[in-house]
Amino acid sequence: MDFVSTRGGSEPVSFTEAFARGLAPDGGLYVPRHLPLLPQTILVEDALPYAALAWDFLSLFDSDHDSEHLVDIIDRSYGNFSDTMNAPLQQLSDNLFVLELFHGPSLSFKDFGLQLIGSLFEEQIERTGVSINVLGATSGDTGAAAIHGLAGKKGAKVFVLYPEGRISELQERQMTCTGADNIYPIPIQGTFDDAQAIVKELMSDLSFKEELRLSAINSINVVRILAQCVYYIHAFTQLPPDNRDDISFVVPTGNFGNIFAGWMVHQMGLPVDRFVVATNQNDILYRLFNTGEYRPDAVRPSHAPSMDIQVASNFERFLYYHNEKDAKATLAQMGQLKADGSIKIANFNASNFAATRSTDEDILKNIRMVKEKYDYVVDPHTACGFQSLDLTSTQVILATAHPAKFPDTIREAIGETPTDPALEKIKQKDQVKYPVAATADAVRQFLKENAI
Ligand SMILES: *Cc1c(COP(=O)(O)O)cnc(C)c1O
Repeated sequence: MDFVSTRGGSEPVSFTEAFARGLAPDGGLYVPRHLPLLPQTILVEDALPYAALAWDFLSLFDSDHDSEHLVDIIDRSYGNFSDTMNAPLQQLSDNLFVLELFHGPSLSFKDFGLQLIGSLFEEQIERTGVSINVLGATSGDTGAAAIHGLAGKKGAKVFVLYPEGRISELQERQMTCTGADNIYPIPIQGTFDDAQAIVKELMSDLSFKEELRLSAINSINVVRILAQCVYYIHAFTQLPPDNRDDISFVVPTGNFGNIFAGWMVHQMGLPVDRFVVATNQNDILYRLFNTGEYRPDAVRPSHAPSMDIQVASNFERFLYYHNEKDAKATLAQMGQLKADGSIKIANFNASNFAATRSTDEDILKNIRMVKEKYDYVVDPHTACGFQSLDLTSTQVILATAHPAKFPDTIREAIGETPTDPALEKIKQKDQVKYPVAATADAVRQFLKENAI
């Protein structure tokens, strides 16, 4: 399968090339040239083991690795989850299900994308003999997941920018306490959007990117999206047969990567009635789906920090499909967004979508409600998914992080402190981090001095 840029100014590339580049040279995002139909055998009664399903799905897009190689890459990626189902579906009531995506090594759904990315990088370094420097920005969980995917791997260094003081202490510790010497956590004074803007700027400096053999880990990498598609199918095949009509997936959303993956599998034939975009008080997408206007605002820190985002990078992919794959139109809209600070999307057809918004107070209230009503503890991001629930049909809420990552908020809501053995261990360790000024030039200089 070839991958093309949403802005139409770059040559189509193969799976491994799209993976290695991250961002397309024209500044656009890679998408598959076309979306194949899911083989109907995938949607059978019983759930396949996760790795087998991942192979069935990913082999539709990866025509570069032979079968055996891809099996090996997938096994390396998903063999170390703490639950043998990888993404188990919990039933809370007749129509209410939670898809637990927090059983990977860093306890958030980001492990699904970044474990695969780590294995693909490892394979690439072995195959080409060329070392790489991985650069990304994180609102907390991406960095931790990327670092767990690449810590200690030969021939790779990882540089992760994050907004100092705006991620939880445990999220920070997951990045700074690995003990691996190829990991560079970089706190900056600013927001996640500032961090992401620096990464984008450095990544679009093509000669610098080439000189340092830079690779991306943010949700702009199309492989992360593809990896995340798999658990939507996995969820579907775990639903009782009576719950397979009229399904809503409710997705705590920031950068629009996770929910976009679901929407993509739906385009490939997964029967889904509705996607619910669940935002926190940073509600750009809530406003978009209600007004058709996309207008980034200032970020306001919340109890769900991994969703404290105003510039949802993956939205460009959705726009491209909304424009019926018209890359010229997408390029014009992205230019207009940059120039005017907002865009109004004509004929915005979001019939498959609904959106909710949760304030910090709602997050606490929802954590309490879920505990009282279902005796189940959700993290603050997942709590956003419980806003305005419609239980007249099947609701699958994506649980995006383990509650133990956010002990303070959970304690405030229900007076309990959830724990996890992996997190207890890192509380005792020394932190290693590399503060750099929040400018592209300062980060460029730091990378030049420390890259492999
Ligand atoms: C990253 C993240 C989100 C937001 O996901 P997007 O793909 O950016 O929409 C939600 N919850 C948690 C716990 C996250 O880490």
